[in-house]
Amino acid sequence: MNKFWSEMVNRTEPYLPGEQLNDPAIIKLNTNENPYPPSPLVKEAIAEQLEGQLRLYPSPTADSLRETIAETVGVSKDEVFIGNGSDEVLAFSFMAFFHPGKPIHFPSITYSFYPVYAKLFNIPYELVRVNEDFTLPAELFFGSEGGVILPNPNAPTSLYMELSSIESILINNPDTVVIIDEAYIDFATVSAVELVKSYENLLVVQTTSKSRSLAGLRVGYAIGHPGLIKALVRIKDSFNSYTIDRLALAGATAAFKDRAYFDKTIMKIKETRSRFIETLQEMGFHVLPSQANFVFATHADRAASDLYLQLKEEGILVRHFNQPGIENYLRISIGTDEQMDCLLRKLEQLLMVST
Ligand code: PMP
Repeated sequence: MNKFWSEMVNRTEPYLPGEQLNDPAIIKLNTNENPYPPSPLVKEAIAEQLEGQLRLYPSPTADSLRETIAETVGVSKDEVFIGNGSDEVLAFSFMAFFHPGKPIHFPSITYSFYPVYAKLFNIPYELVRVNEDFTLPAELFFGSEGGVILPNPNAPTSLYMELSSIESILINNPDTVVIIDEAYIDFATVSAVELVKSYENLLVVQTTSKSRSLAGLRVGYAIGHPGLIKALVRIKDSFNSYTIDRLALAGATAAFKDRAYFDKTIMKIKETRSRFIETLQEMGFHVLPSQANFVFATHADRAASDLYLQLKEEGILVRHFNQPGIENYLRISIGTDEQMDCLLRKLEQLLMVST
């Protein structure tokens, strides 16, 4: 491999190899997937497509999914863009709204894909240092030359930034695009989508991967002023404009339509989260106040790297980051009650051995 290609490959490897395994014996709490299956309506909608529809091209404008999303979040169809997972939507957004030569701002502790995309598209970036308690200092995002991107809730910290702070960032960046990545917003209080009508420079990116349990279908979307949506369509390409494949379109539309199932699984995951956090705290962990489907926790007496490896040996995968400042934290996805109980039992044993 010549130098150019080996550099390109090295630039783009955010996940550790071997941690995306599909072995059912493994308790997989490392990539924030939903532990429950998608709505039963998704299966029906996909089965219907399989009955003779696959020979047909999908709608190039994905009208029915865009309408359904627009209705769900309270905007109009021309304020919705669809992509192959929100990672693709984010990549298009970097290409459409951020420019080489103009530094963008994102938090020093955040989603690992941002620096990957910035390097890939040659966009310089400045890291905004998170506070000691991992909250984000809104004022340090003001006046960015190139634009702003931040997740809310942030990953991997799970912390939520109030809408008033997001609004202050929008007001103080009137000439650049501010992207709020809301991959985990359905587990939190309020979405920034309600600010879209007032701020033409706001792009909110969401996904069906977490709260709607469709990580395998790859459906992400962006919500913003029609001008921003048009810019994304221009990047995507002239034929597929808004669309994704037929199965993904049908499955995601069905998932949005089943509001009752969505509410039920979100409530269940939030209940499990509260109970899990409480027990972790009783065991001596410090846990950040999570508004996501994962928690970020550290234990004063035990190195997170040891716990991570010991859990892995027991067939339980959680996420550990070798990044200065968070090297002693574990990020743990919220699974089913049974999965969390199994993890808690293992942690209890491991902590007993050390004392
Ligand atoms: N943003 C954040 C903050 C994430 O954690 C993830 C998932 N790891 C994504 C975006 C991408 O999700 P997807 O491509 O599955 O929509």
